[in-house]
Amino acid sequence: LEPALHTLITFTPELALQQAEAADRRYAAWRQDDPSAGWGLPALLGIPVMIKDVLCLKDVPCTCGSRILENFVPPYTATAVQRLLDAGVVVVGKSNTDEFAMGSSTENSAFGPSRNPWDLNRVPGGSSGGSASAVAARLVPAATGSDTGGSIRQPAAFCGVTGLKPTYGRVSRYGLVAYGSSLDSVGAFARSAAEVAELFRIMAGHDPLDSTSANLPVPELHLGQRNLQGLRIGVPEEYFIEGIQPEVEQAVRVAIDQMQALGARVQTVSLPHTSYALPVYYLIAPAEASANLARYDGVRFGRREPAERMIEMFFKTRGKGFGAEVKRRIMLGTYALSAGYYDAYYGQAQKVRTLIKQDFERAFQQVDVIACPVTPTTAFPIGEHTDDPLAMYLEDVFTLPANLAGVPGLAFPVGFDSRGLPVGMQLMGPHFREDILLQAAYAYQ
Ligand code: GLN
Repeated sequence: LEPALHTLITFTPELALQQAEAADRRYAAWRQDDPSAGWGLPALLGIPVMIKDVLCLKDVPCTCGSRILENFVPPYTATAVQRLLDAGVVVVGKSNTDEFAMGSSTENSAFGPSRNPWDLNRVPGGSSGGSASAVAARLVPAATGSDTGGSIRQPAAFCGVTGLKPTYGRVSRYGLVAYGSSLDSVGAFARSAAEVAELFRIMAGHDPLDSTSANLPVPELHLGQRNLQGLRIGVPEEYFIEGIQPEVEQAVRVAIDQMQALGARVQTVSLPHTSYALPVYYLIAPAEASANLARYDGVRFGRREPAERMIEMFFKTRGKGFGAEVKRRIMLGTYALSAGYYDAYYGQAQKVRTLIKQDFERAFQQVDVIACPVTPTTAFPIGEHTDDPLAMYLEDVFTLPANLAGVPGLAFPVGFDSRGLPVGMQLMGPHFREDILLQAAYAYQ
């Protein structure tokens, strides 16, 4: 299926075989009671996974979907990936992503888009589209992703799989190539909430190598319960806006009714600053990106275009190495941060971000989770939004607020539209309460 779906940027068959053989040896030793195998088996022994190509894996190219990092081979492994390796996974390859995770369709990947297994003429969503497509097509049971404004949840919804964006700071960002550092989270895709919980449990937890990593214990996840007795679900009126595909709204409302039938109490909540999330995000994320991407200068990482003078080398390297969307974001971000505009744009956006965060704090005094759609529409055709960045940005309206507030968000399938494309529902929870989201989705599933 891979030639049709193009889920990978780098395929790592030798590494996978090596890791699989090591897993077999470990298992054989355990079967024979060989004390060198330890007392138990690692939780994910032999499970094949894909790693989104923005997370470093030692000695394997990390391109970030960009020509500028085409030949960059990281000398170290991201903490989240290392934890999965320690748990026994087998890495099949590095999955496709929009360039530097900027996008909602994988069409911004310098290596060509991935495709949606439900309809090959449609996008799988993005930016973690390669991972979502691969899990949906059953190429691998699980994959990692990163989510700065929806890049795990939106592709999970478009491909009909389960995807978790953890609380900001819950999973280490060490070894994740930075996009918007105050928004980036590392998470995972799998077929069900129970499987996502397995990955999350392993990836999460404090890491001294990431200064924003939270030093909090990861609660035990008890997913046994199949009812939702006592769960208070808030439905934000601001998320059922004009322009939402009626079938998406319908499927999400039916799922909420089913959760009510499982014992949950449903009430309306208000997140009044929701409509500001999009402009706030598209100021803050590009501003942070413009600073983070300054390091790709042809000197320190990846590609270098030869030139007579240094400044010329910078221009040529960045001019050829970055794609159009990345350049647009660098320009937007540089503008928002420049003297004279900083207060009016970046400073103002930061203030509104606080209001958005307060909306969530207030809502979570009344309810345990918030239920809403993940995206206004199901997967769109390849090429539909490529000439219209604003239309592409609108894909993110329901996912951006969680990143601005730092709260966790879970996307999981709740039905299909009339074309047979999956519809996703999103649950958001208070900071560090991924357990509530996973438990609720588990009971529903
Ligand atoms: N689509 C959003 C963007 O382009 C979010 C991407 C992401 O979460 N990495 O910035």
